[in-house]
Amino acid sequence: MARIGVFVCWCGSNIAATVDVKEVAKEAAKMSGVVLSTDYQYMCSEIGQNLLRNAIKKEKLDRVVVAACSPRMHEVTFRKAAELAGLNPYLVEIANIREHCSWVHKNKDEATEKAIALVRAAVAKVTLNQELIPGEIGIEKRALVIGGGIAGIQTALDIADAGYMVDVIEKTPSIGGKMAQIDKTFPTLDCSACILTPKMVDASMHPNINLHTYSEVEKVSGYVGNFEVTINKKARSVIIEKCSGCGVCIEKCPSRKTKSEFEEGLVNRKAIYTPFPQAVPNVPVIDREACIKFKTGKCGICKKVCTAEAIDFEQEDTKIIQKYGAIVVSTGYDLIDLAKFGEYAYGEDPDVITSLEFERITNAAGPTAGKLLRPSNNEKPEKVVFIQCVGSRDKTCRGKTYCSKICCMYTAKHAMLIKEKYPDIEVHVFYIDVRTPGKNFDEFQRRAVEEYGVNYIKGMVGKVFPDGDKLRVYGVDALSGDTIEIDADLVVLAAATKAKEDAEELGRKLSISTDTNNFFTEAHPKLRPVETHSAGIYLAGACQGPKDIPETVAQASAAASKAIILLSKSKLINNPCVAKVDETICCGCLECTNICPYEAIASTIIEYRDHGKMIKKLVSEVNEALCQGCGGCTVTCRPGAIDLKGFSNKQILAEVDALCF
Ligand code: SF4
Ligand code: SF4
Ligand code: SF4
Repeated sequence: MARIGVFVCWCGSNIAATVDVKEVAKEAAKMSGVVLSTDYQYMCSEIGQNLLRNAIKKEKLDRVVVAACSPRMHEVTFRKAAELAGLNPYLVEIANIREHCSWVHKNKDEATEKAIALVRAAVAKVTLNQELIPGEIGIEKRALVIGGGIAGIQTALDIADAGYMVDVIEKTPSIGGKMAQIDKTFPTLDCSACILTPKMVDASMHPNINLHTYSEVEKVSGYVGNFEVTINKKARSVIIEKCSGCGVCIEKCPSRKTKSEFEEGLVNRKAIYTPFPQAVPNVPVIDREACIKFKTGKCGICKKVCTAEAIDFEQEDTKIIQKYGAIVVSTGYDLIDLAKFGEYAYGEDPDVITSLEFERITNAAGPTAGKLLRPSNNEKPEKVVFIQCVGSRDKTCRGKTYCSKICCMYTAKHAMLIKEKYPDIEVHVFYIDVRTPGKNFDEFQRRAVEEYGVNYIKGMVGKVFPDGDKLRVYGVDALSGDTIEIDADLVVLAAATKAKEDAEELGRKLSISTDTNNFFTEAHPKLRPVETHSAGIYLAGACQGPKDIPETVAQASAAASKAIILLSKSKLINNPCVAKVDETICCGCLECTNICPYEAIASTIIEYRDHGKMIKKLVSEVNEALCQGCGGCTVTCRPGAIDLKGFSNKQILAEVDALCF
């Protein structure tokens, strides 16, 4: 007969205000196998854990149920406490009477009744628990960083400085990301390129960092400490090792009709191009869709003029298969498509631009050499209107419900940059609320108003109407209720940020989840903000949610630390709650092999003797090192041949029976 101890936690008033914890402990004491039942204010506290440890020893408990918060919070805490008292940690079960009970009920009697039922289910399960012994696995001492913006660069530098090899995969031909496009950074107004390019160069020169630009993740398999990643290195058509970066090929290329991605489409680029002057690597790439040679077989001028013989039209995509112990995802963000926001005339009038286009216009290295000129006529504007929250905090289906977090600050920066260079230009900013929660942020935004005289109008713009060479901006001042009409020369839209288009696809490859807005989901918003639910995969930067540069860099270093902690271990403890096949029941249909997201199941032939006759049988076999215990296979197996250790069918059914008691 089992000797079960039940410990009911109050969680202060979190549980005790809604659940009669004394009554739960009293009822638990009557349950089969329970020899001790008690309650305490904070079971996770040192006193609470000591209570549990002492009781295990004194009462010779061989199983424990803690009725408390979600196992995601403290399962590890209580398992460790039990282990310290000499009990196998897998003989501990958690009854979640907080998230599943006290937090979702108001009626105390009903909540108490439910808490008792949850404890009864946990007692029924723990009675059938068996000791489990985790195995050990080795760790590949190499990290992969997906995305080469500032988040990826910082992560890679930190991991590399700790002495580990890092590969960085960047989709575009150069590392640098959005920060390379930005003119100045808030709130210090540092030149963005001046602080970014040294880091880009450091990353390219670091002996522990390998950059794979113009490359993508094709396939990911394996598990924490032992991921296997297939990288597709797209054909650049230029041999990196041979190219001297002289740029003569770009100069002579006659194909000049493609809009420059780096310049946000404000100017065209050639078919062979280097995205920007400080690109790393500083080697051109041929855009095969734009190249005359690839389209018609003619031209080939770049090859003729390249004295380094670096042009290779025959170059093919190459695949690299590499093992990694840890992966950091830092793929960044994009701006929303403004096609659905017809009222602002974006795409209809060239003088309506996005904030990122504005960054390029004010950048000394940009298409206008830093002069603020109207795209329509190359003349200096007299009145500029900024519209914030275009698609942010928008509950309609065309926008995003969240705050993009950076727009208030960069709009203040843009307004100040205009006033500093051209004090005579009138600057108006339409805003819903000004949100400046950051170090020196509020002071920065106030300078725009108090020092530079930028006119902030609380209200939304209903329509931007192109009228001759002007843009008539119709808005409402929400404070006075007055309608406002401004004849502007330039309108700048602070378009909402959004997750990368391919975030979901990459998430599927990595087996990490995305939220309703397609940003990658952290394991816990407060306690595990850079981890994902897939062990060994971490998040850095705006791929997890809107972020400014300081936050991105801080999160990148946090993700790097997590990866370093993992890589510095000599061995990892394996989760023992893995699937197990009963070969006598398995019929060899192999349905389970198709469902397993970790490719942990393979087929095998077993031989056995039946009535003196040798029989060969096809069955499935679980690789325990790969299995993550998701349980997918157990529900797929029709004959019921697969069970999950620690979550067996028998245990689950015992819980269900107890709940229906
Ligand atoms: Fe430009 Fe293509 Fe001609 Fe080279 S072959 S010069 S990339 S158009
Ligand atoms: Fe065997 Fe079940 Fe897998 Fe089919 S689904 S191969 S029966 S374990
Ligand atoms: Fe694969 Fe089954 Fe393990 Fe899930 S529980 S990882 S489906 S073997």
